[in-house]
Amino acid sequence: MRCPFCASVDTQVKDSRVAEDGSYIKRRRFCTECGSRFTTFERVQLKEVMVKKSNGIVVPFEREKLLKSIKVACKKRPITDDRIEKIVNSIQRQLEASGEVEISSREIGVLVMDILSNLDIVAYIRFASVYYNFEKKDDFLKFIDTIKKEISALDENGDSEITGKTYNQCSIIPDFPVNLKRDEDLFNNEK
Ligand SMILES: [Zn+2]
Repeated sequence: MRCPFCASVDTQVKDSRVAEDGSYIKRRRFCTECGSRFTTFERVQLKEVMVKKSNGIVVPFEREKLLKSIKVACKKRPITDDRIEKIVNSIQRQLEASGEVEISSREIGVLVMDILSNLDIVAYIRFASVYYNFEKKDDFLKFIDTIKKEISALDENGDSEITGKTYNQCSIIPDFPVNLKRDEDLFNNEK
């Protein structure tokens, strides 16, 4: 493994650890040339997944890119790195097992939103606003309105049979980081 700092190929494995669920091996490496330390992960890849972007260009699936976009959405939310790793693993497995030659970036976005919407509403809205790339204010308001309706459908205990969301997940919506915060009426439950 080439050193990412000085490009020397003279690196050594100092320590190897298997993840608790056995899904990857983490190796601490050491560069004998410049003394840097870095970590590599070894995972099973069932097959190469190709992603078709919205502009039609097909590129290999990049796990790191997906991980980064979810991490950005989950920033400062109560979601551990470990949890995010598991989300990415689960999506990667689904993609590899799908049998499709190419998967659109749109489909991957839907998989992520499906998981985040049940995990943390703030992370979900952040991810969705990047995914939908709202250009018009109205489009964005329409999206928020949909979420508002889902929340309004909750019963007194905060449970919803429609969405499966809980009160705790919904009550954090006023933290929503976009300028809409002043429109708090949007989030008020009519009941
Ligand atoms: Zn080095």
